[in-house]
Amino acid sequence: MLNSRIRDVADYPKPGIVFKDITPLLADPAAFAAMTLEFVRIGRELGATKVVGLEARGFILAAPVAVNGDFGFVPVRKAGKLPGEVHAVSYQLEYGEAVLEIHRDSFQPGDRVLIVDDVLATGGTAAAALQAIGECGAETVGVAVLLELSFLPGRARLAEESPVLPVTSLLTV
Ligand code: AMP
Repeated sequence: MLNSRIRDVADYPKPGIVFKDITPLLADPAAFAAMTLEFVRIGRELGATKVVGLEARGFILAAPVAVNGDFGFVPVRKAGKLPGEVHAVSYQLEYGEAVLEIHRDSFQPGDRVLIVDDVLATGGTAAAALQAIGECGAETVGVAVLLELSFLPGRARLAEESPVLPVTSLLTV
């Protein structure tokens, strides 16, 4: 059901990229709920206490997981968007660099974090989030994504950071 609600958009945002558009899934309450409950199940199984959503589509996915799973929600944002004291991590993009930020006081001792995002591609974004969470003193217990692009090295990139970290994708192409 989830698979049929993801639309391929060719050559977006640039030629050669097939963009995985999740807006049809978000517009379908049954599919959105099924996805959310699956993420909640994963979070509970891993003993998560907080869910980190990655800007921007990760916010949409992670927020209902936090509410339904009784986890706290923590945003990881692009540079310059968070008002408090931040911890910043820069990471490589295909061309150039990007910076992710997280509030330094996002976590309490003993917090166990599940990172949630829509698509795992090269893994650079999730790996940067993993690093930021660790540097803020919390333990990441898993990464969960709606869709993994298995022809890209996202899973291997995360294994470089943390070889035993569970990485779960609800769908794989
Ligand atoms: P990466 O850091 O390469 O794993 O890219 C992950 C981020 O880029 C995620 O936050 C996705 O939202 C987005 N992304 C990467 N590739 C795609 C794609 N083909 N379709 C939709 N989103 C993508």
